[in-house]
Parts: sequence; structure tokens; C-alpha cells
Amino acid sequence: MWYRMRVSAPLARDLSRWFAREARELPWRETRDPYRIWVSEVMLQQTRVETVLAYYDPFVARFPSLADLAAAPLDAVLEQWSGLGYYRRARLLHRGAQYVAEQLGGRLPEAAQALQEIPGIGPYTAGALASIAFDRPEPLVDGNVARVRSRLCALEDPRQQPATAKGHWSWVRELLEAGEPRVLSQALMELGATVCTPRSPSCEACPVSRHCEARAIDAVERIPAPKVKKASPEFHFDAVALRWGERILLERRPDEGLLAGLWCLPLRATKSKRAPSAASLAKHFDVEPAAAKPRVLAPIKHVFTHRVWHLRPVELRLARRPKAGAQRAWIEAGERPEGGVPSVTNKLLAALGF
Ligand code: SF4
Repeated sequence: MWYRMRVSAPLARDLSRWFAREARELPWRETRDPYRIWVSEVMLQQTRVETVLAYYDPFVARFPSLADLAAAPLDAVLEQWSGLGYYRRARLLHRGAQYVAEQLGGRLPEAAQALQEIPGIGPYTAGALASIAFDRPEPLVDGNVARVRSRLCALEDPRQQPATAKGHWSWVRELLEAGEPRVLSQALMELGATVCTPRSPSCEACPVSRHCEARAIDAVERIPAPKVKKASPEFHFDAVALRWGERILLERRPDEGLLAGLWCLPLRATKSKRAPSAASLAKHFDVEPAAAKPRVLAPIKHVFTHRVWHLRPVELRLARRPKAGAQRAWIEAGERPEGGVPSVTNKLLAALGF
């Protein structure tokens, strides 16, 4: 209550007014449709607004309603998601839409707790949906919001204790209760994304600087304390284009794990810097090579969130076409199979001239 009287009400007012004046025009802010807001929130996870802008409109044009998404085959959803990355989000969004269609009569519930029963919806997305789509004072905390709150309240917590994280949720709830939740939750995220940025925040232009304790004690630069970043593990593969005439083979990855269910070149783990021989590739992939040496191209580095792949594109011409299979597709230059094709595959295909 102390916060509400001393901090939240004036803070909420300043934040709301600023948002009304300065909010970026974004397509998902023009709708009140909970399904479309859900799509945008899922797309925005770990992805920049500028990137999502290229994907959001085509996605909702192809799947205009929750019922359309639920009825679509997973391959169509992955195809539409191709290039956006973190494909698990698309699979879960699809599964979540099916759950809502089958179990909840096609309507998203309004309360954050009920929303979290839906596959793929965690506390953050539930808070975002409940507050933005249903105007309920249900909090949402991500890295942006945590940073803004830490600075506003001058929370110096180098160890980033769980109690601090818990405090963020109750603080945001109080803030949302002090005004229009729909506006305040978006305003808080907008402030973190455009003004109170991780490095060099624009305190001079900040609409809530008069409430900011970190600024008052000149501690903005050290709040929040930087996280100790663990190095991502690195993996080396030969990405092998098995070539039969003018076609090469793509394989669908297993249904679990990284790039699940997406089309990729067959990979072979390698520790050697020496180019692979045709014989060793032939043995590994159980194929008959047509040439003594494969074509080997410069390696490509692909960075995922928690790992790095070093991929050496290798093209091996075949004397005989290997067996066909449901999880295999032969493509010519410029062709792509139906379903999801991740950007790492497109990078490799471009290097190979496909
Ligand atoms: Fe962030 Fe600076 Fe505004 Fe404080 S004054 S909330 S540190 S931008």
C-alpha cells in the first residue's frame, strides 16, 4: 500500500501519459483480439520487434483466428514460422491453440492462472495476455521489466536473489492496479525497450525519471548488476549435401530437440580440420559416391541461444540414388520442401548454390 500511495499512482500516471503520446505504432497494438495478441507475444519472445514485424502480418493473414491455427497442420505452421527461429514456440503455440479449441470451446480464459493451463503459456505470457487483452491487473515480468523496476527502486542485488524476482511481480501488480492494466503493462515494456535500455539508458528523455531512485543516487550504470555469462558450447559438423543429378537431399530432424521437425542437411559430427574423404562420407551415410573427392566449402558459423554450430558444407555426388523416405526430400536449386526450413539450412543451401 505504501508503494501505491508513494510511488505507484504518480508513476502510473506519468507512464500512461507518456505511452499515449509516444507508443510505437505496431500492428498487434491495433487489435483487441486475444488470439492475435497471443501470437504477437509468442513471436516477441527473445526476438526483436523489427524482426517480428516481418512475420506477424503474414502469420495472422494465413491463420486469422485461433480456430484456423488449431485446424492447420503443424507443417503449415512451421512453414509460416520459417526464419523467425526458436521453432519450439511455433509448435507450442499450435498445440496451445488446439488445446483451447478442443478443451475450452475456442475461447481464451481471462485469468492468468487459467491461461497457464494452456500448453506453452508460462507466467510471462499469461500476464501479458491477461493484462493487454483482458485489462486485468495481472503482472508480467521479463528482463526488460525487471531492469526498469530494479532501477526505479535502486535495487542493488548483484546475486539476483529469488526474493528480488518475486518482488518484481508484486511491484508490477501494484503498478497495474494503479491505472489501466492494458496501458501500463505495455508502457512498462515499451519503456524498457526504448528508453531504459540495458546500456546507456536515455534518462534525460525518461518520462518517469523523477520517480527513479537509481538516478537519484547516481547508480544507473551499475543497476542491474551484469549477469555472469557462461560460454556457449561449440559443436562442429560436416553439413553434407548428398547430390543425385541436379538434386540434393534434405532430412527432417527428429521431433524432439533443437530444430525439431525442420528440414536440414544431413549432419555428421567432426573433430577434424581436414576435409572429409568421399569414402568416409559414403560409409557414414551408406551411399555410393560418384567422385573420389567431395566439394568442400568454407565453414559457416551459426549461433543459437545456448550453443554454437560450426558447419562445413560438403557436397558429395552420388553414383546411385539412395532410398526415399517420408523424412527425406530431394530438392533442386531454389526449391524448398513443405514445412519449416530454418535459416541455418537456407544459409547452407545458399553457400552450395541451392
Ligand atoms: Fe531508466 Fe533512467 Fe528512466 Fe531511471 S531515469 S527509469 S534509469 S531511463
